[in-house]
Amino acid sequence: MPSCIEIRCASALHKTPKGRGGPYGCDLNPYRGCAHRCQYCFAQYSHAYLEDGDYFGHIYVKTNIAERLDRELSSRAWDGRPISLGGVTDSYQPCEARYSLMPEVWRVLIKHKAPCVISTKSALILRDLELIERLASLTYVNVACTITTLDESVRQKLEPHAAPSGARLAVLSAFAKSPASTGLHMMPIVPYLTDGEENINALYCAAKEAGVDYLLPGMLNLKGKTRDTFFTCIDRDFPACYRDIWAAYQNGRLDKAVRERAYARVRAAQTQYGISADFMAPSRRFFNNNHNERAEQLTFL
Ligand code: SF4
Repeated sequence: MPSCIEIRCASALHKTPKGRGGPYGCDLNPYRGCAHRCQYCFAQYSHAYLEDGDYFGHIYVKTNIAERLDRELSSRAWDGRPISLGGVTDSYQPCEARYSLMPEVWRVLIKHKAPCVISTKSALILRDLELIERLASLTYVNVACTITTLDESVRQKLEPHAAPSGARLAVLSAFAKSPASTGLHMMPIVPYLTDGEENINALYCAAKEAGVDYLLPGMLNLKGKTRDTFFTCIDRDFPACYRDIWAAYQNGRLDKAVRERAYARVRAAQTQYGISADFMAPSRRFFNNNHNERAEQLTFL
């Protein structure tokens, strides 16, 4: 069991540096650390400055996040651009069931009609469906779930404490019926493990059935501590793939031919199932149809 460490944050919103975080103005993370323990997690670096190397085991809980958010959204400094909820941790990881920080965050976002995007690997988000629907009836909201595989035996090893993929699909189906837009993030695609035609097609087929607006694919990147955690997992749980995956990343970056082979399968599935990868299309549609929204929001398009 991870330990939870309660802290008070000095600020709720963190500006996303240009070029990182895509079109979003700010990140909001109610927790630091994540108990989902995904073996490819890129965010492990974010504990380094706390001199706490246990990203999965020590969860810092920002108990005053909603209060700080309210103050910051009331300030003229907020530029009105969509906020990314949980860019470096999952806002609905297990300790959210105990701390319930998110309902108050949604109430503050509703008060300020603040557009936002959220991605999760937890079905706990369904607890707050009504609040999220209310916000989505006022402004732009996108709900995404990351799903890497429909093979539960692989999923349990790669993402041991996240919800089963079927439960995440149920989340997407529920939100597809709401005013929010929805997306399936097929990230990361792991070469030699989840990049097979069967897995890619199964995810596109499931996305189609769930009724999502887009499916965003992305290959695995390996840097720093993530590389060590990931290869320890592959060595232990998928030894038959170890040599191939290691060779594919031997120069640091993913081998071009391996990447191209995976993206050829992705393109074929995109055509077969008619699902776009354009994750910006729903927000463009929303802001083009809602000219009374704050002018600044249009500048991110
Ligand atoms: S859900 Fe996201 S932040 Fe949490 S462990 Fe997995 S990849 Fe990392």
